[in-house]
Amino acid sequence: MKKGNIAVQTENIFPIIKQFLYSDQEIFLRELISNAVDATTKLKTLAAKGEPTGELGDLTIEILVDKENKTLTIRDRGIGMTEEEVEKYLNQVAFSSAADFLEKYKDEANIIGHFGLGFYSAFMVADKVEAVTKSYKDGSQGVTWSCEGDPSYELADNDKAERGTDIVLHVSEDSVEYLEDSRIQELLDKYCKFLPVPIQFGMRKEYETIGEGEDAETKETEVPNIINDKDPIWKKSPSELSDEDYKNFYQTLYPFSAPPMFWIHLNIDYPFNLTGILYFPKLNNAFEVQKNKIQLYSNQVYVTDEVKEIVPEFLTLLHGVIDSPDIPLNVSRSYLQADQNVKKINSYITKKVADKLNELFKKDREAYEEKWNDLSVFVKYGMISDEKFYDKATKFVLLKNVDEETATVAEYREKIEATQKDKYERTVIIYANDPASQDAAISAAKKQGYDVLLLDHIIDNHFIQVLEQKEDKLTFVRIDSDTVDNLVQTDETKESVLSEEQTESVKTIFGTVAGEGKTIEVKALSPEDQPVQIVRPEFMRRMKEMQAMQGMDLGALPDDFKVVVNGNHPLVADKLVSTEGDDQQEVADYLYKLALLNQNMLKGGELTAFVEKSLGFLK
Ligand code: ADP
Repeated sequence: MKKGNIAVQTENIFPIIKQFLYSDQEIFLRELISNAVDATTKLKTLAAKGEPTGELGDLTIEILVDKENKTLTIRDRGIGMTEEEVEKYLNQVAFSSAADFLEKYKDEANIIGHFGLGFYSAFMVADKVEAVTKSYKDGSQGVTWSCEGDPSYELADNDKAERGTDIVLHVSEDSVEYLEDSRIQELLDKYCKFLPVPIQFGMRKEYETIGEGEDAETKETEVPNIINDKDPIWKKSPSELSDEDYKNFYQTLYPFSAPPMFWIHLNIDYPFNLTGILYFPKLNNAFEVQKNKIQLYSNQVYVTDEVKEIVPEFLTLLHGVIDSPDIPLNVSRSYLQADQNVKKINSYITKKVADKLNELFKKDREAYEEKWNDLSVFVKYGMISDEKFYDKATKFVLLKNVDEETATVAEYREKIEATQKDKYERTVIIYANDPASQDAAISAAKKQGYDVLLLDHIIDNHFIQVLEQKEDKLTFVRIDSDTVDNLVQTDETKESVLSEEQTESVKTIFGTVAGEGKTIEVKALSPEDQPVQIVRPEFMRRMKEMQAMQGMDLGALPDDFKVVVNGNHPLVADKLVSTEGDDQQEVADYLYKLALLNQNMLKGGELTAFVEKSLGFLK
């Protein structure tokens, strides 16, 4: 037996390891199993190169829980280590890399996936760690290294018969959870599900039916419980895979989810390495909840599901996996954002996604349109947040009108160009955001021969702004805005039936009815148009929307609206003008309240009084 001290430079790191990001303790298992996988892969590589490795045999890695002796063992049949290698790798390399790692990141809670602590992470959960190992090299003597969480270690010969390494953790009192099968199973599911070497955790029962009909018997057999799929489909070539394979894989990742709409298989090896599958989920409107579903792997080892820095923000609405050894995993987030590889990965994925959508659109537009409701938030979000994506997406983003007809931006412009132009030669897109309450205005606009788009998602406010910024001479007005009204006005064919004097008096009456501070306008609209309309200054409304977007107080700006009286409507031109005094006041009040009601703006006592009055008419 040999005793020695691990080369400690400045301070004893064991207490730090023990405390290191307590909540992330569980990663020790991933680190140790990754080492076992590496040792196994190295052995296979050596054998493939023709090195004398002896018979490879079964390379399954085993996880063993011994509750009685309070140990957790990770057993591999990989390359193992000789005594010199143990000294070099465990005492020097592993120790100093763990020390370096801690030195750099002990104040930083933001290390993605916390890769890199390596072998010494075992001391987060164990009082004592043993490495019982035997090298693949011919005639090797087995050695056991053990360390009790202080800088001294022991090294002794053992009589291990098989090649490979057992890492035995003597689980500490406060980490006994790692002696529970269910906890280990949970961690294996999380971190090891797709590791490239079979991982066994105990046995499981399998049932087999033997014989037929009456004689049929169910036979129970015990088989090794292999917890991972060592050839996940993202590593395969798309030509080998069916739609069923992709859908089944989606179900493994997200059990009980609705099937995905479609997917993109990523595969690139230059200038960086990346494979993966991105799924377009069926979105419901609550898109926030769906985020953080993409899983990030490094060589099939699970790292994290927080991929915000690695994929563009809008792509976090997608689901699936990304596997890349080229993403630096043990660096801080701010560093990651500046990393060139990460930037390239970002734009590669964005391009792939845009290409896929474009392909779907071009190949089968009808099918694409059917999916549009689920896709639209995603595409619009992408256009808002990513300039490159915007440029590509203008080809396949769809605008839908209140009659459910869809068109691309270019198609739509062509459709409305002749009728919807303002005096600055801008094409004016009219849209509704709440068709139920804007119904009257919508029918009026349609009667004028205008088309009305439906833009009713919270994202549409941003989307409109981006389109206005990027597209040439394009502007949007909401159906209840005063600008729509101006547009209507450009059609100067109607003459007013009211005299100037009557117009003034109508204006005064409505002024009294609507109360102080309201702007009243009397206009010569078509007799079929509403007698009174409520419109909002486009500018003020947008200011408010911006405030709301920035989380500012909505109350800061008044609900400013304008009352437009249609002087040509018979109820104004005939009825109102020909009555006098209180009666006249009452007619005006009724018409005004009706307009408020139309906009869902009549509330409380006023609404009750209005209903009472209306019922009175029927009596
Ligand atoms: P890393 O894996 O990042 O190199 P670790 O601290 O996890 O760092 O391990 C240090 C070294 O110890 C490894 O590079 C490897 O050479 C050796 N090692 C650790 N675990 C095993 C194992 N199960 N089998 C063989 N060698 C191992």
